Amino acid sequence: MPLHIQTPLIHSRPLSLAAGTEVWLKLEALQPAGSFKLRGIGAACEFHARRGTRRFISSSGGNAGIAVAFAGRCLSIPVTVVVPETTTERARALIRQEGAEVIVHGKAWHEANALAQSMLGEADAFIHPFDDALLWQGHATLVDEVAASGWRPDVVLLSVGGGGLFSGVVEGLQRNGWGAVPVITAETAGAASFAGSLQAGRRIELERIDSVATSLGAKQVCERAFELGRSHPVRARVVSDRAALQACERFLDEQRLLVEPACGAALALAYAGDEALRDFERVMVVVCGGVTASLEQISAWKAAQPED
Ligand SMILES: *Cc1c(COP(=O)(O)O)cnc(C)c1O
Repeated sequence: MPLHIQTPLIHSRPLSLAAGTEVWLKLEALQPAGSFKLRGIGAACEFHARRGTRRFISSSGGNAGIAVAFAGRCLSIPVTVVVPETTTERARALIRQEGAEVIVHGKAWHEANALAQSMLGEADAFIHPFDDALLWQGHATLVDEVAASGWRPDVVLLSVGGGGLFSGVVEGLQRNGWGAVPVITAETAGAASFAGSLQAGRRIELERIDSVATSLGAKQVCERAFELGRSHPVRARVVSDRAALQACERFLDEQRLLVEPACGAALALAYAGDEALRDFERVMVVVCGGVTASLEQISAWKAAQPED
């Protein structure tokens, strides 16, 4: 039995009306660790567990760290997550709640990551948040489930951070004979490393991340995502933080699910009836989820946004 669950695929009337086309939601927000990350990370952790790994190490203070902690608890393997000081109390508590050890080190992620790497012993496995073929294989199960249901999307809409979800979904489309189904990607303006790379024709690195969508905050997407971005039919779209936050509030109101702005970015394109969606009759949105932002946090972020 895998560690993730099969998630519902539901039609959304409110989102369809807003988008001007039919919208279905693949509800990854319902995964036990709160995001799609459990698919890939669960698969990677199981792989390492079969090989006798005695500890999992992560340096993600976000949903990846939470998924590793969850997987370790299920597999009875200890987990250490090294996070920078900027990681919120909420995220630290969610990781600890899964029984993992949290070590706070450094001002920024690269310092925490350096310590995590230096701690790696022979019998430890480092679990990367997005750049690992084991992860992509696991994320691809999301598409396998849809294919098994007999329903086929005309296009898939999803958010991109480091590109692990995108790489996995494209792998899933390809392995189900759906290599021609295009993907529309969403990023927030201050974290648009994927759209920027496709535009530049090379894998660019952002100088800094400037977005409330912290789970999209990879300065550079993985090589695999960039390659697939060039070979698979893709439209890369960018939304404002404000639009992502408004989408979170509206989604909570209409679908009764709280998701992070990282997920709100994809929802914002559907709510706006983005022109990239108009050519398609059946849109599948990957509701990637995310548990690190409370409703209070989302409201506070929105109140702090500059006027348009
Ligand atoms: C990790 C994450 C993303 C981005 O996924 P990548 O694989 O890094 O592209 C988007 N949304 C949520 C909620 C996440 O946790």
